[in-house]
Amino acid sequence: MGETLTLSAELRDYALQHSSDETPILAKLREETRRATSLPQMQISPEQGLFMQVLARALGAKRYLEVGVFTGYSALAMALALPEDGHIVACDISDEWTKIARRYWAEAKVAHKIDLFLAPATETLDKLLDGGHAGTFDMAFIDADKENYHAYYERALSLLRPGGLLLIDNTFWQGKVIDPAVEDAATRAIRKINKTVARDVRVRAVMTPIGDGLTLAAKL
Ligand code: CA
Repeated sequence: MGETLTLSAELRDYALQHSSDETPILAKLREETRRATSLPQMQISPEQGLFMQVLARALGAKRYLEVGVFTGYSALAMALALPEDGHIVACDISDEWTKIARRYWAEAKVAHKIDLFLAPATETLDKLLDGGHAGTFDMAFIDADKENYHAYYERALSLLRPGGLLLIDNTFWQGKVIDPAVEDAATRAIRKINKTVARDVRVRAVMTPIGDGLTLAAKL
């Protein structure tokens, strides 16, 4: 019928039951994040984690860049999907949340794959670019402060290799992107990046209804 179904709770459960299992350590981290933080919605869903793992495997990704770590679920999912010589550069500013992340990365025995930079991500990304790492990443995921999405997008795109994949999270922003009554800075920033990506001749992009809207952009 050529359209995406509205996903009922039952159909979502069915989809989860007919996908690969969430790795036990990811399930444990999801549960701790729910208990230990007041912001469990900042964590990606199990199906989004699986989706990213499948993309990483299909792409043969070795180098992954993450902007916005929180308690480390997406970086852990990706570290589990990358090969033993895979490498993750993870950017965040919260020592408090990334302490949980680091504990789980160690427990999952993937900490050696992950370099965490606790600094404003634009600084970290600029350092990577200055250090000659443009065009070297296979995948990147932007899931941080929305007002800086445009700055992250431009830098992450430069850091990706041609054929690399950029993922941008929360591009639906709980539907606020299409609500004309909402005019806060974060919503405006997401509307702006959504327009930019759709018109950007440097990528081929699709906005998908996974989680809170996940845009995939392949660098040409
Ligand atoms: Ca998010």
